[in-house]
Amino acid sequence: MGAQLLDGKACAATVEQQLTARIDQLRNAGVTPHLAVIIVGDDPASHVYVNAKIRACERLGVQSTHVALPSDTTESDLVEQVEALNGREDVHGILVQSPLPTHMDEERITDLIDPAKDVDGFHPANLGRLVQGRTDGLLPCTPHGVMKMLEWAKVELEGKRAVVLGRSRIVGMPAALLLAAKGADATVTVVHSRTVDIGDRCREADIVVAAVGRPMMVKPEWLKPGAVVVDVGISRVEDDTRERGWRLAGDVDPNAAAVASWLSPVPGGVGPMTIAMLMSNTVRAAEASMGSPGQ
Ligand code: NAP
Repeated sequence: MGAQLLDGKACAATVEQQLTARIDQLRNAGVTPHLAVIIVGDDPASHVYVNAKIRACERLGVQSTHVALPSDTTESDLVEQVEALNGREDVHGILVQSPLPTHMDEERITDLIDPAKDVDGFHPANLGRLVQGRTDGLLPCTPHGVMKMLEWAKVELEGKRAVVLGRSRIVGMPAALLLAAKGADATVTVVHSRTVDIGDRCREADIVVAAVGRPMMVKPEWLKPGAVVVDVGISRVEDDTRERGWRLAGDVDPNAAAVASWLSPVPGGVGPMTIAMLMSNTVRAAEASMGSPGQ
């Protein structure tokens, strides 16, 4: 027996395809959605992520501005860049790639981005709306992508028990809020590094969302038979069988496929969905700039 593939690539292609009609409508009204991405420093993984975001813009006909700053950029220079983009009417979305160099205060920079252009969904105004149960705004891309994947697979959430592993501001907590929100209606437990008996908590769950960053931590024996498992984690692990000496691994042991009913792969699961939801937020921000409520 094997779990069905919670196929992030296929789901992302559906989301992108639905966006093209909205992008066409915007263009017909004289507006090209425009995403500005700022990256500071030379972290190779961050550059890979930024390039993937720029490629998605090109694929969809979304304009992109790529601002690459050296690692010794001062925080005040970065502040100036963000403020300049805040003031540009033709820019609808601003994303500052994380992590920033250690001499910068990432939260301060997040707080500076105009909430209407905060396509990452990390600004306190946007996260605050989510806490209030208002899920019609700019939602954090990764957890929103997780919800879309569950919708795509027609996974019933109402009354189901969900466990989210991880309580970060960008993945775990917003994923828990979205699963528990009215309309989704799951009953949610959040586990973290201080939780005891994580395996027992997972075994109670119909839906497991793993966002920890610990490769293959979630074991098949932690899962209830038939559980739906979404693997958000991405880590590099050594692999001598690959020419480059490493491969990507998720938080879930791939042998979980023998127990789960659905399992998202790494890579090819949540990653493509994160980018699709970034495109969705950029289109939504462009629509909102015209006074349209978006979708
Ligand atoms: P993070 O900020 O480091 O948060 C990790 C969370 O996991 C924390 O809440 C931490 O608990 C918890 N944790 C760590 N070790 C644990 C353990 N042994 N047992 C239980 N909980 C533990 O990471 P993040 O930004 O949320 O990202 C999580 C993972 O998702 C990473 O692998 C990241 O690369 C990946 N990710 C993927 C995408 C994508 O597009 N696919 C997007 C974003 C992130 P404490 O709070 O107690 O420290």
